[in-house]
Amino acid sequence: MESKTDSIKMFFFPFVGGGHQIPMIDTARVFAAHGAMSTILTTPSNALHFQKSITRDQQSCLPITIHLLTTTVDITDTDMSAGPMIDTSILLEPLREFLLQHPPDCIVVDMFHRWANDVIDELKIPRIFFTGNGCFPRCVHENISRHAVLDNLSSDSEPFIVPGLPDKIEMTRSQLPIFARNPSQFPDRLRQMEGKSFGTVINSFYDLEPAYADYIINVLGKKAWLVGPVSLCNISVKDKTERGKQPTVDEQSCLNWLNSKKPNSVIYVSFGSLARLPPEQLCEIAYGLEASEQSFIWVVGKVLNSSKKEEVGGDQNWLPNGFEERMKETNKGLILRGWAPQLLILEHAAVGGFVTHCGWNSTLEGVCAGVPMVTWPLTAEQFSNEKLITNVLGIGVQVGSREWWSWNGEWKQVVGRERVELAVKKLMTRSEEAEEMRRRVKHIAGNARRAIKEGGTSYADIDALIQELKANRFTSQV
Ligand code: UDP
Repeated sequence: MESKTDSIKMFFFPFVGGGHQIPMIDTARVFAAHGAMSTILTTPSNALHFQKSITRDQQSCLPITIHLLTTTVDITDTDMSAGPMIDTSILLEPLREFLLQHPPDCIVVDMFHRWANDVIDELKIPRIFFTGNGCFPRCVHENISRHAVLDNLSSDSEPFIVPGLPDKIEMTRSQLPIFARNPSQFPDRLRQMEGKSFGTVINSFYDLEPAYADYIINVLGKKAWLVGPVSLCNISVKDKTERGKQPTVDEQSCLNWLNSKKPNSVIYVSFGSLARLPPEQLCEIAYGLEASEQSFIWVVGKVLNSSKKEEVGGDQNWLPNGFEERMKETNKGLILRGWAPQLLILEHAAVGGFVTHCGWNSTLEGVCAGVPMVTWPLTAEQFSNEKLITNVLGIGVQVGSREWWSWNGEWKQVVGRERVELAVKKLMTRSEEAEEMRRRVKHIAGNARRAIKEGGTSYADIDALIQELKANRFTSQV
């Protein structure tokens, strides 16, 4: 039996926004379940978002704790919808001090703590890189940059094939992040941060994207461990409900509504933790959903007003006349404002489709729940994820989103109601094509569950990383 002092000591330093913080917390919990002594480093206000699930883990005797990094001023905008540009460098001194006093065997760091890499490297602590993404989007962006394909395009809307990939992936420049349109910049920054690291932990599983996992390791030469899908560590209803933020809907009324619906009859619509859609777009979604005649749960996050400043919910002028009342009367739709218990909803038998912005976590969560998707990418690497869902895995239908959106910038493209209606109907009405997508995604969901169990690939990668860290401890002692 291994003593506590033999156990590997791992620190996890998550970012403050939803799509990055949530999977890192799950990753810390997964490593604790494999016997690593996991400590999450965070601010007092952020700890509130996951304290309860960590307390439950501790009650189940998992070796996991939270260490609070305290500062005189808190980081602004820590409500889980913090954008990637939030500066967290105020945490530098408390981090350095804690690392000096309690050096761990490694620290897993989110890529958005840009300043942290140097501090950690100076202290010679093995640093593990975490981007929050899967293998596929990484390969897409690396190859666009390596092969300088963007140089020869005549316009932002001219399609090109991403060179050197195992599948034929067609994209346009308008679907790429602004910073990735300058071919040399984006991957370079990534490469530098990853360069001196001990390796990269990826929230994915081999069977989802085998050719791309091999590509990352064998062709791009990265040291990587595929340890996901980490969201599957949320087993109890409480863990699924209280993930990220306290939902604004009461869990039981949401379940009661879903229980009143037939299997696979509800489509769940959500654009992640960051999305702020303008009223014109929300209005088109409302018309499109109504015309599709499908039951739906629609999570409306923040609303972007014309001055590009977000407003929080309240104002309902953007909804078509009488829409919400009609949806209530006919029991056709549930509109949720604020934070939804996404895992709980997706895994309910009544949910048969997911309109998603293709954030990596939502993509994986949709896959694990075995629901086909309507893909509606907005920003970040979501347009690449869309290609994985639709072109590679064949488990989704594209709504027809063409323009990358800077999360605090101007909204360029409104997707019309007809497209919404068409895509939702294609996914939800019975057809051979829809049945085939459903069969495929259910099969992949089974593979995901096998990956994290003993004998599975992710299970093995987690143990392999723990063993490497043990070996590294030994070598750095001699
Ligand atoms: N999420 C949630 N409820 C919400 C919105 C988001 O639970 O109302 C969770 C979702 O389950 C996922 C994460 O927040 O785990 C969002 O991550 P993703 O990568 O999909 O998108 P991002 O928010 O980074 O754009």
